[in-house]
Amino acid sequence: MIISEKLRALGAEAERELGGIFADIDRISEINTEKVLDAFREAEISESHFAPSTGYGYGDRGRDAVDAVATRIFGGEAGFMRPSIISGTHALTVGLFALLRPGDVMLSVTGRPYDTLTDVIGIDCPNGDGSLADFGVKYEEIPLSESGEIDLAAVRVAAERLRDSLRVVFIQRSKGYLSRPTLTVSQIRRAAHGVREIARSLGIEPPFVAVDNCYGEFTELSEPCFDPSLPGEEAVDMVIGSLIKNPGGGMADTGGYIIGSKRAAELAGYRLCCPGVGLDAGASLGQNRNILKGLFYAPHTVAQAMKTAHLAAYVFSRLGYRVSPGPTERRSDIIQTVDLGTPEGLVGFCQGIQSSSPVDAHVSPEPWAMPGYADEVVMAAGAFTGGSSIELSCDGPMRPPYTAFLQGGLTWESGKLGILRAAQTVLEKSGKDFDL
Ligand SMILES: *Cc1c(COP(=O)(O)O)cnc(C)c1O
Repeated sequence: MIISEKLRALGAEAERELGGIFADIDRISEINTEKVLDAFREAEISESHFAPSTGYGYGDRGRDAVDAVATRIFGGEAGFMRPSIISGTHALTVGLFALLRPGDVMLSVTGRPYDTLTDVIGIDCPNGDGSLADFGVKYEEIPLSESGEIDLAAVRVAAERLRDSLRVVFIQRSKGYLSRPTLTVSQIRRAAHGVREIARSLGIEPPFVAVDNCYGEFTELSEPCFDPSLPGEEAVDMVIGSLIKNPGGGMADTGGYIIGSKRAAELAGYRLCCPGVGLDAGASLGQNRNILKGLFYAPHTVAQAMKTAHLAAYVFSRLGYRVSPGPTERRSDIIQTVDLGTPEGLVGFCQGIQSSSPVDAHVSPEPWAMPGYADEVVMAAGAFTGGSSIELSCDGPMRPPYTAFLQGGLTWESGKLGILRAAQTVLEKSGKDFDL
């Protein structure tokens, strides 16, 4: 790999400077690994759970064990983790349609949700494709406050007006493609507590609090539905995510999960399958082994991705680029942004990441017009699993400030090499050098 001696030295400097943070990340990984192993032992995971089932999948012990293990790890009362969920958007669709009925209101309290959800919700208008709006579900949103907090005062005003039609309060943990801060688990649980306090004081049915947990799993010591018994914090009703991100550990071939309160998970099971059948059926098609192996790896894999993100922040801020979060800032997801400032910079960044990937390293990404996006998009994805973003990957829209959204890294070693290659390519394209 072509990486200059100066950049390799910068990488070594970053590793030294970030040593304390890396030790914290390893500690979180160890505690989460212990939680995973406890859940496996409790569920008596054994080789027979790996056996595939077909057809209805009745009596698929492995499927039920995966559901139980995942529920225990995430601290929910009930839930499921299944290969029949194809993506995060699909899992979110199942969860939202499970909870909402005609006339109900979904209130997003973290501003505009992730891009793919606009069609699901039917934001601004029904789309005739079976969106929530098509079924008479209304949607409202409240942006985060100036300081990046959930605005509970605004939630109270909305709840007073909406009263019993307020059915779902929706929280997106990760910043996604926005330039807002990611919420911590504690912030989310304080919001859940606040929402229920508001409902109690107004004498209305408490709404379900549902969380898009994508990219957040295992970055902290607990998940939003874990009941922390901390004053001022409460478990949320539903957490939702994808197995080709954090909790799949880079091992799951496909899948997603929904975990939460007994009632919320039951409703989601009816929506995933059908009312009456719920979670008692569904062939696992031989995926149980990969899903369990992925859960086993996930705390460690997420730690690799977190270290890679810190390294990217360190290296690129030393090279004079704006990064978010900062190199030593604490994180609650694995996303790192780097503002490259020019089209060549952004393309160079993606080309550098691609050239260090284990798959398709020989191809060179170029910007292209993607359906549903206003600007051209450039992306790097050299993954073993199609579209996997727990594997080192990045993308960015071709518009100022030419921001790369970077995430993943199955191993620290490959993550580090990827970041240094990205720096090398960006410097080559800009014709600039730097001083250590
Ligand atoms: C990735 C992501 C989704 C959607 O997941 P897909 O698997 O791409 O459908 C939703 N919300 C957030 C915050 C995400 O990061």
